[in-house]
Order: sequence, then C-alpha cells, then structure tokens
Amino acid sequence: MMLNLPNDFLFGVATAAYQIEGAVTGHGRGRSVWDTFCEQPGRVKNGDTGAVACDHYHRYREDIGLMSDLGVGAYRFSISWPRVLPDGTGRVNPAGLDFYDRLVDALCQAEIAPVATLFHWDLPQSLEDAGGWLSRDTAYRLAEYATVVGERLGDRVRMWLPLNEPVVVTMFGYATGYHAPGRQLGFEVLPVAHHLLLGHGLAVRALRAAGCQQIGIASNHTPVWPASRDSADVIAAETYSTLANWLFADPILLGRYPEGFDAAMPGPVAEDLEVISTPLDWFGINYYQPAVVATPGEGEHVGTPVAGGVPPPGLPFELRPLPGHPVTDFGWSVVPDGLREILMTFTERYGPRVPPLYVTESGCSYHDVVDGSGRVADPDRIRYHEAHLRAVGSALESGADVRGYFVWSLLDNFEWAEGFRERFGLVYVDYPTQRRIPKDSYHWFRELLKAHAAR
Ligand code: BGC
Repeated sequence: MMLNLPNDFLFGVATAAYQIEGAVTGHGRGRSVWDTFCEQPGRVKNGDTGAVACDHYHRYREDIGLMSDLGVGAYRFSISWPRVLPDGTGRVNPAGLDFYDRLVDALCQAEIAPVATLFHWDLPQSLEDAGGWLSRDTAYRLAEYATVVGERLGDRVRMWLPLNEPVVVTMFGYATGYHAPGRQLGFEVLPVAHHLLLGHGLAVRALRAAGCQQIGIASNHTPVWPASRDSADVIAAETYSTLANWLFADPILLGRYPEGFDAAMPGPVAEDLEVISTPLDWFGINYYQPAVVATPGEGEHVGTPVAGGVPPPGLPFELRPLPGHPVTDFGWSVVPDGLREILMTFTERYGPRVPPLYVTESGCSYHDVVDGSGRVADPDRIRYHEAHLRAVGSALESGADVRGYFVWSLLDNFEWAEGFRERFGLVYVDYPTQRRIPKDSYHWFRELLKAHAAR
C-alpha cells in the first residue's frame, strides 16, 4: 500500500510509563495515584494493576529491538514522575533518571527519535495528598520536574510534551472518578483544568530554559456531532465541544478561555493565560472517535470511556451511540473521516496561530488471540490504521500541516480502568510469560514503512 504522505512524514509508536513499565516498587520509585487507585477494590476491571504490566522497565532493550525492526522514526514514551522525583518534588532518584538516560541512549543508537511525555497521568501520590491538580502548587511542581529531566535528557530527546490529555485527567480523574485519583468533583472541577494548563505553560518555559527543543502537547480532540438537527441537540453539542475541545486548546493557542470560563478559574487568570499560551513548536492531537451529543433526556447512554464514570447530575448534554459505523471490541466507533475533520477544524479555527500538527495517538482495541500456529491475525487493526493514515493524507491535501502519526500503541498494555482486556498493540503481549508476538498489523506497518522509505 502506498500512502500519499510526504517523504519526511514522521511515523511513530506511543506508550505510557504506568501502562507498560511495571517495577512499581524498588528502584527508588515513589508511589503514584495509579498505584493507589489500583489497590482500591472495584476501581479497575478484574482487579488488574500496572505493578508488572509489560515489564518494560526490564525489557526495554527487547522493545526497542521491536521498534527498530518495525522501522519507525520515533518513539513516544512517558517518563514516570514518581520514578524521577519519588515525592514529586525535591529529592531526585538517580536510578530513575538513569533508566530514562539508558532508554534514550538506546533509542538514539537505534536511530529512533525519542519523544518524551512528562505527565501521562501518574501523579506522585504525595502531590495528590497535598491537593493534586486542585492545588496551584502542583503546576509549579510539574515545572520543577521538567527542569530535572530537561537538563538531563534535553540534548537527546527530539520532541517534548509536558502533558498528555488534560481533558481526560480533568474529567475522568477529578470530575467523574473513573480514573485515578478517583475524585468526583462534578462541576467543581474547573480549577483542575486551569492548574493543568498552567503546569503545561510553566513546564514549556522550564524545558526551554533547560535547552530543550520541539515542545508541544498531546491533547485529546474529537469532532462533536449533534444527535439531530434539533436546536436543543445542536446547543448541547456546542457545549460539549467547548468543554472537551476548546477549554483546553483555546487557552494554549489563543491565550484565552472560551466565553464565560475566566470567572470560574482560580488565580490571576489573565497573567496565567500568558504563561499557558507560551508558543509551542507543534501541537499533538490524540484521536479515537467522534462524539455524538444530544440534549439530556430519553435515549441510550454510551457506556464507553469517552463518557467514563458516572456523569455528574445536571449536565447539559448526553453522549449517544453513533449508528452506521463499525465498532472496535472496546465499543468505540471507527470513523477515520473524524480524524480528517478534527485536523481541518484545528487548521481553520486557529489559522496562523496553529503550529504544525502531529497525530500523537490513534488506535483501536480488539480482543486479539494467538492462533494455533502462533500468529495474531488482526485485520481490523490494519484496516483502522490504513484508513486513518489516508484521512491524514486527505487533511494534508486540504491544507492541514500534519507532520506525523503515532500508533497507539506499540504493545498491548494496561488500559487504565479497563485493565488488560483491551489490546491496542501492534505487538501482542502474553502477560504470564511476557512474550511479545508481533501481530499481523505489525508486519503490515513494517511493509508500509519500508515502501514509504523506498519512494
Ligand atoms: C491515552 C492512552 C490510552 C488510550 C486508549 C488515550 O486516551 O493517552 O493512555 O491507553 O487513549 O484509551
């Protein structure tokens, strides 16, 4: 298959520390909110935890070997904050920093560009105990942590992202409690969004001061479609889109909150917005599926993590299923054109203020099995990525400046509150033995990368 993508288009794979590393005790690592959350009965399906996960902490060389054979140009991983700063601030754990130093060196040796996320949801527990993202101080702690890792790894890490998906941390971590730390603040959650954004801006500045290059973000975005043409549904969809998309992207790219939000935010909002909108070198969009939104009332609710947790009562919208599209085994709709649409929306909404875009995550979970011959056939995942890459090609043709695409994920891994049942990887992980088995989609992607490189 040939794709209509530029020669220097960056193909990558992505993971996150708590989802793959394991080794949560020892090695000087502190506790994170996810360690605590997983210990609480009923929080994660099947009682699964990230305590061992893919044991990547010990097997990273094997995993880099898989990426090297695959032929990707970049690897997006996350650094575990409590591994580097066990208490979230102050004392540095040398063994933790050394681990990422070795990882980055090994990636450079394999000619794979390291792309490092600082906060992919594993907040040090001691910071949560001090208020977590409800506390303004946590934003400053993120900047402190950025300085520590930036000074050590800035000479080799190619791209940096202080945050992964602030909307998910806000909504699932603090509004509905579906994710760690499991707080259910409902409408009281807005300070969390502000402190995450402030932390982002402060960390961008700290990384720059440490000499780091190519700083961006991975933010989850989705086209929002009203369930009907009814004006109540249209208004509900706009409200949802404001909360899920623009509350996070507007402050960063325009230096302002959507109308009406300033007053709800704590602190010197105008000054903070200057920090939050510190210019970025690029902006990363994580895309999974569109949202269909109706005014609350009768009708079927969607039980997927997009609507994760129990929504607070009194929401002015409600998510609905999307008929007419295939769904993954996780129940998520497969709508490649939604990726084209959101890339174009960014291009048009932000005009000259939008930096180059990357798709920092896109992927699908199917309940893959190893067949009698040891093969993992996952034709739906091949179709998924092929169609989503074509959607990126269409966005490029229509004028979007998209520079790369990261598959979520390299490996099957710990899918947060859903545990290990959901498998997003190009590589199957047999958890009891930790054997890695490249799926058909891995082989397909490898051929695609080879053909692209040979053009
Ligand atoms: C997150 C990943 C997660 C994936 C699939 C994204 O929201 O960044 O950590 O595994 O989606 O749910």
